[in-house]
Amino acid sequence: MPFRRGEHLQFHRDRTLPGHANGMRMAARFGDGTAVDWECFSVGGGFVAFAGQADPFDAVRVPYPIDAGADILAHVRRRGFARVSDLVFANEQAYRPRAQTVAKAEHLWAEIIAAVHRGVSRTGTLPGGLNVTRRASGLCVRLLGEVPATRAGLIDAVRGMPRDFRTVNQWISCAALAVNEENASFGRIVTAPTNGASGVIPAVLMYLHTCTDHYDNDDIVRFLLVAGEIASVFKKNATISAAAGGCQAEVGVSSAMAAAGLAEVLGGSPEQVLMAAEIAMEHNLGLTCDPIGGLVQIPCIERNAMGAIKAISAAHLAVESDAAKARVNLDQVIRSMWQTAQDMKSEYKETSEAGLAVAVNIPEC
Ligand code: SF4
Repeated sequence: MPFRRGEHLQFHRDRTLPGHANGMRMAARFGDGTAVDWECFSVGGGFVAFAGQADPFDAVRVPYPIDAGADILAHVRRRGFARVSDLVFANEQAYRPRAQTVAKAEHLWAEIIAAVHRGVSRTGTLPGGLNVTRRASGLCVRLLGEVPATRAGLIDAVRGMPRDFRTVNQWISCAALAVNEENASFGRIVTAPTNGASGVIPAVLMYLHTCTDHYDNDDIVRFLLVAGEIASVFKKNATISAAAGGCQAEVGVSSAMAAAGLAEVLGGSPEQVLMAAEIAMEHNLGLTCDPIGGLVQIPCIERNAMGAIKAISAAHLAVESDAAKARVNLDQVIRSMWQTAQDMKSEYKETSEAGLAVAVNIPEC
């Protein structure tokens, strides 16, 4: 089938399809007279939705359906689950045996460690023309004296570091930068919930794994299960797409995911776990998406470090709080985020037409 770029592929930058800002229409007619006509949407996190087609995951019936934060609390109270992760485990059983769920989560964790190690092992500038210097490696050398040759060596060396606030804070930033520099240079990362926000969860998991006493595999798996469920609630009631909601939908959601996962492992009650997610999002509301030059580098890379720090603060705050006295709940903050997303001008939603993207001159290359 001949394909002529420019004739067969047309960008309509001034038009959007109803449904989502990132839409594409594909039409083809074949020699036998048949034709296909698809509308599809990139809805965030690498997921593609086809107009008129149901999500295949919707066909699976889980025992405890969750559409909102309130459902999580209702199920754990009614069924006596001690932890949010117990509820998520029970639902995941509808998709696969528990051992496979654990194995998948452990695989994600192994990929996260690998991404952090690759990120701190590489130097130079990032591709794209902004000439952004990779900083994770330098931070790692200043913290550890060198970049350990292996992933296990990196974990061991970080565990041997002093635990003062400045050192821990720098390590969290280092891990976030490492993963986002990998993302910005086409490296392999775990999307959580999107590529641009993929450094938050690794940084918070690294904090958990190297700077606290909660570092065994069960802790990591429970963290990931809870984080995933929180992302799902945001996706069902708002968005995880910056094109639809600005950066509050990316770094904001990843921060809420990480806060909930950390609160779970720190021993938070289900109410405190949801409160952690609420706090993290509450302080990311209105965050715009304005990447300079359309590259996921500035402000994205540093923003992941900020998202991780907010997540850690939110989790610690929540597990020390009386969640029954909270004045704002997770579902309310998600509604607020969605309303903010709809009020946000399109210039601040991944178009690079406002904010930092136009305030900073891009050097001629
Ligand atoms: S500023 Fe935009 S591109 Fe960058 S991380 Fe946030 S949502 Fe993603």
